[in-house]
Amino acid sequence: LLKPIDRPPWILNHDSIKTIKKLGEGAFGEVYMAELTTDKVSIPVAVKTMREEVSRDSRLKFMKEARIMRKFHHQHVVQILGIAVHEHPLMLVMELCLGGSVLSYMRKHKGKTTLETKLRFVLEASSGLAYLEEKSCIHRDIAARNCLLTEKHAVKISDFGMSDERKTLTDERLDKVPVKWLAPETMQNKIYSSKTDVWSFGVMAYEIYSDGGEPYPTLTNIQTRAKIIVQNYRMEMPKDVPPAVVTLVSECWAKEPENRPPFSKIHERLLSEYKKEHGD
Ligand code: ADP
Repeated sequence: LLKPIDRPPWILNHDSIKTIKKLGEGAFGEVYMAELTTDKVSIPVAVKTMREEVSRDSRLKFMKEARIMRKFHHQHVVQILGIAVHEHPLMLVMELCLGGSVLSYMRKHKGKTTLETKLRFVLEASSGLAYLEEKSCIHRDIAARNCLLTEKHAVKISDFGMSDERKTLTDERLDKVPVKWLAPETMQNKIYSSKTDVWSFGVMAYEIYSDGGEPYPTLTNIQTRAKIIVQNYRMEMPKDVPPAVVTLVSECWAKEPENRPPFSKIHERLLSEYKKEHGD
């Protein structure tokens, strides 16, 4: 006897999602803490919603973000659980990260975050990024604001709104992206690759070690761009950063993308530094 095909569990019913409180504001709508109930079991989740009135283009971007995230399962990448698309607002249901962003954590604990925690944050981020690199995913918006923390302060790479599955791409729409995180070839030729994520990772390491400081604090975006491209200028890392990390970050900021280390190597080197300084 033929049976009807079950609705794939990936597609969730709005009835199974109960929003509890607002957590943040996304580009297309609010992000909520919610409770997801499947098979009578309820779990806390985060839901990114999309307002009904957004453009078709935004809706496609939202779906692309869900489709790309669906392929990833890693302890340092935010897990997507499903999407709810039968009613408005459209919802993207994800693992809940109650610790807020790494950027807000650094600013809130200014002067109090230990070197061990800082190294663990960059190490865990590099672990998630090495996984994404292996899966040929370019994130394109690596920054401390886009790394979230769980309640127990594990780092999760988040916000795949700009991510892409091509090895390299050129994107003319540069206006919205924060200039101070961009590699020189992105600033100049709008080229993105895993190696441009590596550059941004270096800027994020600066953010973490400076307790959430603004990169190039004395420069405007236009001055930053000019100094990096024309004078080959690079930021100085704060004084207490371990020499191994200073060297690694300077390699992430190599002018030629091929001279930057891949995330697989970055992760290896940070792991050995962590073990050397803080044990296993
Ligand atoms: P967008 O890319 O659409 O602007 P983000 O992914 O940056 O949206 O999310 C906006 C905000 O929502 C984040 O800064 C964060 O505060 C919150 N948020 C997003 N995802 C989660 C999550 N999985 N858990 C907890 N909070 C989240």
